[in-house]
Amino acid sequence: MGAFIVSKFGGTSMGDLASMQRSAVIGLERSSTILVVSATSGTTDRLIEIAKFASSGNMPECEKLIFGIREKHLGILKQTGNSLQTLTQLESYFTELDLLVQNLTLLKELTPRAYDHMLSLGERMSSLIFRDVVAQLMPHKNVTLLDARTIIKTDSNFGKATPQINLIEKEATAKIDRSGETVYVTQGFIGSDLQGNTTILGRGGSDYSAALFAEGVSADVLEIWTDVAGVATTDPRMVKEAKIIPELSYSEAAEMAQYGAKILHPATIAPAVRKNIPVFVGSSFAKDLPGTWIRTSVENKPSVRAITKRSSQALVTITTPTMYNAYGFMGELFEVFGRHRVSVDCVTTSEISVAVTVDNTTLENASFIKDLEKVGNIQIEAGYSLVSLIGNELTHKASLAKSIFSTIDDVNIRMMSLGASSYNFNFLVKEEDSKPVIQKLHKALIEAQ
Ligand code: ADP
Ligand code: ASP
Ligand code: MG
Repeated sequence: MGAFIVSKFGGTSMGDLASMQRSAVIGLERSSTILVVSATSGTTDRLIEIAKFASSGNMPECEKLIFGIREKHLGILKQTGNSLQTLTQLESYFTELDLLVQNLTLLKELTPRAYDHMLSLGERMSSLIFRDVVAQLMPHKNVTLLDARTIIKTDSNFGKATPQINLIEKEATAKIDRSGETVYVTQGFIGSDLQGNTTILGRGGSDYSAALFAEGVSADVLEIWTDVAGVATTDPRMVKEAKIIPELSYSEAAEMAQYGAKILHPATIAPAVRKNIPVFVGSSFAKDLPGTWIRTSVENKPSVRAITKRSSQALVTITTPTMYNAYGFMGELFEVFGRHRVSVDCVTTSEISVAVTVDNTTLENASFIKDLEKVGNIQIEAGYSLVSLIGNELTHKASLAKSIFSTIDDVNIRMMSLGASSYNFNFLVKEEDSKPVIQKLHKALIEAQ
């Protein structure tokens, strides 16, 4: 048998029949064994809206949205030739969706468990149809629809469950045939907890699922197929001069993903690192372009490789006069973050205060804010973006700070952090400043190189 390849196709690569067919051709040409797919583009957003409308009792809006999802999926299925078995299965998913909506409308309550179950339908529908598309292209293979929930075992932290690596490996080893005879089509984004409840890995989680599958089967290559031709020096939607990066180290890619490069879910790189699996990122719309390879080490290591942005950030400052000359305060503070599972992106400290950046959504967590108030006085400022320079040996580049500050000398930088790793330099700016800041920095630090 040749190399064991896990390939993931994102929402736009599942967007219509032509996109599904292009994706299937890639699976065939690369001899991928596991094809992990996202929901068709826009479907997860629609399911979220349905969940919200249903729990507020707004049935007419739900019906409109369900109609849209139905039209889209039945439309693609019809074009494939409409296998009766697949049609029956698809109908059963819509029955499941209707039932969920009826329950939520009745109870007017959206439980995290119901939310995850509802969202899982997007990937379950797309993979069902994609299986037929792949089977038509590969009549000589045994093309199997694999329920990812039987492999991707997680805890019960609905909304953003934590995968149980050892269990995943055990299930993958037991259930996946490595002979090359079988091609598996499966869902990204979803898993199940130890009680069998459906869970999700968080928005954009299909990349992470694919990496977990790759780790579970000790794959030779993990491929992420999306709508851009690889990882670029910044989001090409923001800077049209952004260039595809041919090779990236795991550390650089992980920092880029962590600090907002949407092309990779932040957790994608860790499973690949654990098994030393090279990751390829390319466009399913232009499969022959060279794309990006992410590996342990790379030859070219520029000091500034890329610029990323995390939008919707808030700065929380916790102040306590008793912090002066005292110990234990940081422990107390971060224990609150840990208990509420709030991740900390950037931290700076002064004599009596600590400033931390968090995602805006964290501010909706009233019990977290209440617990923080027990530690000190808190001040919250919203409306920021975290801009990060990602590169190599950033802590050793004497002229870097000067170049940054002279390039954006008209912008107020609210906070910055450098030094925890040599791979990133983060600074917080007002949301409205972030795009021009990135454009200017890209020009000065990347295009000019
Ligand atoms: P998929 O549905 O295939 O997972 P996503 O929309 O999640 O696709 O991710 C792809 C998008 O990521 C691109 O369309 C692009 O706008 C965005 N993106 C952000 N930063 C980068 C970057 N540095 N390089 C390439 N794409 C990026
Ligand atoms: N469909 C999910 C989402 O939209 C997962 C993914 O696309 O990666 O978040
Ligand atoms: Mg994505």
